[in-house]
Amino acid sequence: LLSTSNSRHLIGQLVLLGDSGVGKSCIVLRFVRGQFDPTSKVTVGASFLSQTIALQDSTTVKFEIWDTAGQERYAALAPLYYRGAAVAVVVYDITSPDSFAKAQYWVKELQKHGSPDIIMALVGNKADLHEKREVSVQDGIECAEKNGMFFIETSAKTADNINQLFEEIAKRLPRPTT
Ligand code: GDP
Ligand code: MG
Repeated sequence: LLSTSNSRHLIGQLVLLGDSGVGKSCIVLRFVRGQFDPTSKVTVGASFLSQTIALQDSTTVKFEIWDTAGQERYAALAPLYYRGAAVAVVVYDITSPDSFAKAQYWVKELQKHGSPDIIMALVGNKADLHEKREVSVQDGIECAEKNGMFFIETSAKTADNINQLFEEIAKRLPRPTT
């Protein structure tokens, strides 16, 4: 079988959106390879990776992850990645209010053009840089609540909350009834 999705094995097509430099690629590399490379390359266009996790109820979830580039010149391509996605992860950098504003732009974009039942997560990354924080936890929570999103702060650098992010998403994926 090329692709199966049943109550034991789910597939979660996921897209990461957010400003360039907020750490989308580092989050994916931390999740998929368990690594953090501070010299990682800027994403060109988009890149694809997959990773399977097992939940406590022995369900497995295979995440098929599209990591998009945040640069303006690729913005027109974003719908290609989020239109079919079951999950959108919108990332900002807690040290950058600009990136938080950009995250809110992406949320609106998803509400307008994404699948109506898309699962959306709001992620404040670089939580290890707390001394440089410029976006409060409360601002993140409020934005997420207003938009029916799940909220978490992560650090791809220290691995803090990276697995939790994907586990929480996995729990929210719809279970097929058959
Ligand atoms: P992207 O453009 O959103 O894919 O961002 P990247 O994943 O390429 O990361 C951009 C920069 O932020 C790189 O220099 C990373 O080393 C750095 N970075 C990413 N995640 C973190 C993090 O959690 N903490 C810190 N301190 N730096 C991070
Ligand atoms: Mg990238």
